[in-house]
Amino acid sequence: MTSSFSNLLLAEPLARAVAEMGYETMTPIQAQAIPVVLSGQDVMGAAQTGTGKTAAFSLPLLQRMLKHENASTSPARHPVRALVLLPTRELADQVAQQIKLYAKYTNLRSTVVFGGIDMKPQTLELKKGVEVLVATPGRLLDHIEAKNAVLNQVEYVVLDEADRMLDIGFLPDLQRILSYLPKQRTTLLFSATFSPEIKRLAGSYLQNPVTIEVARPNETASTVEQHFYSVADDDKRRALRQIVRQRGITQAFVFVNSKLGCARLARSLERDGLRTSALHGDKSQDERLKSLAAFKAGEVDLLVCTDVAARGLDIKDVPAVFNFDIPFNAEDYVHRIGRTGRAGASGLAVSFASGGNDARLVADIEKLIKKKIELEPVEFEEDRPRGRINDGRRHWREEGEAGDARDVLDQPRERRDADARRGGGGRPHRAPAAPRDPFFDKPYEPGQPDATPAWEAAAKASTPGRGISSNIKSKRKVPALFKSAEPS
Ligand code: AMP
Repeated sequence: MTSSFSNLLLAEPLARAVAEMGYETMTPIQAQAIPVVLSGQDVMGAAQTGTGKTAAFSLPLLQRMLKHENASTSPARHPVRALVLLPTRELADQVAQQIKLYAKYTNLRSTVVFGGIDMKPQTLELKKGVEVLVATPGRLLDHIEAKNAVLNQVEYVVLDEADRMLDIGFLPDLQRILSYLPKQRTTLLFSATFSPEIKRLAGSYLQNPVTIEVARPNETASTVEQHFYSVADDDKRRALRQIVRQRGITQAFVFVNSKLGCARLARSLERDGLRTSALHGDKSQDERLKSLAAFKAGEVDLLVCTDVAARGLDIKDVPAVFNFDIPFNAEDYVHRIGRTGRAGASGLAVSFASGGNDARLVADIEKLIKKKIELEPVEFEEDRPRGRINDGRRHWREEGEAGDARDVLDQPRERRDADARRGGGGRPHRAPAAPRDPFFDKPYEPGQPDATPAWEAAAKASTPGRGISSNIKSKRKVPALFKSAEPS
C-alpha cells in the first residue's frame, strides 16, 4: 500500500493545499480511509483525534464534491452538501479550520456553527450558502429550527467522535438531525471505540460500511521523565514555580481537577508573574479560543486546564505536563502525559500528590501503568540552608486509604457531562445522557441514563498504559499514548 499523497491523484487544488501544509506521507487512517471514501462507500472508522482523521475524511469528500463544483455565487446554488458533526465547540472549530485549509484553493465554501456564542454571525454565513457545514448538534438544531440551515441536499455526513456524542447525550439530537437528511448519501462514522452503542448507531445509519481500524497510536516509545512529588496543597504553587524555573520550562499544560481550581490557579500563577491562561468549561467560547490561540502562538507559557477542556485539542508536543491535581481517573493521567514526549522528543511529567484521596488515585495510576510509583519530596530552594524539606513528603502508601474514594471518583463524570453538554450548544432541555435503549422506538424522547456510559466502558476496555516499562525516578521510556487527544 502506497502512502504518498502524490500517488492519490488528488485534484490539483487539494494537492496544492496538502503540499502547502507540508504533508508528504499519509497517516495510517488516511491511507486506509481515503480510497474507500473516494469509492463512495460508507466508513466506520476507529481512530482518535491526532491520527490525521480530519484529512482522512475531508480530502476525499472535497474531491468528490469538486466533481460537481458550482461556480455560481448565488446562495441557493450552494446548498449544504457535506455535514460534519462533532461533540464540542473546540473540536468543531478545529476541524472547520482544517477543512478551510484543505479547501483553500477550491470554490467550496465552509463554515462552522457551535453553541455558546451569538447565532447571528453564524446565520449570516449560512445564508450566504455553504457546501461544507461543521457543527455541534445542539446549535445545528437551533439553526435548523430557525430555518437558517436546510439539509435536504446533504450528500455526505460525518459523525466524528461519535462515542463522545453519545456519552454526552446527543443521541436524540443526532436522530433528529439525521432524519432531515436524504436517505441517499454517504455516511462516515468515527469513534475512538466500537462500543455496542456505536455499532447500533452504525447499524441504523450506515449502509454496508467498510470498517477501518488503525492501531492505537500509543505503541511507539518516547521519552517521558515522570516524577511524583509529595507536596502539601499550600506548597504546590511554589513547587510548580520552582520546577518551571529550575528546568527552564518554556511551555506546559497544568492540569487541575475542577473548573474553579483551574480559574483560581491561573489567576494566582499570573500574579506570580507567569504568563498563564486558563481553559475550562465556564469560560466563554471567545475566551477559550483566545487562550488556545495565545498558547499556540507562544504568548502564554502555562495553559491551566481541566481534562474536559483539554480533550481533543490539537496541541502537539509540549515540553512538560504538570498534574497539579492527581487526576480522578488513572486513564486521564495517561492522556494528560501523552501530550508530552511525543515522537521521540523528551518530555517531563510532574505530578503533585498531597493527602487524602491522592493515595488511592496514585495507586490506581500505578496499577494502570504497571509501574511502581515513588513519591519524591520537594526540596525548596529557600529552605535549603536549614536543610529542611517540605512537610508534605511521604510515600503515598503511608497516606492510607483515607476518605471515600467514591465521592471523588463520581465527581468527574458529572463534571465532564456538564462541561461537554454546555459545549454542545447549551440547550438545557436536552437529554442528560444516552438513553439505555435509544434506538428509534421513540426517536426524540430521552430515556433513562445508561447504567454504564460508553466512556466508562471504553475506559475499561482499553489498556492505554500497556507496555510502560520504566523507572519512575529516572528518564524512562513511555509509549506516546495518544497522538493528540484523549479518547472518550
Ligand atoms: P487530526 O487527527 O485530523 O486532528 O490531525 C492531527 C494533526 O495532524 C493536524 O495538525 C494535521 O494538520 C496533522 N496531519 C494530518 N495529516 C497529516 C499528514 N499526512 N502528515 C503530517 N501531518 C498531518
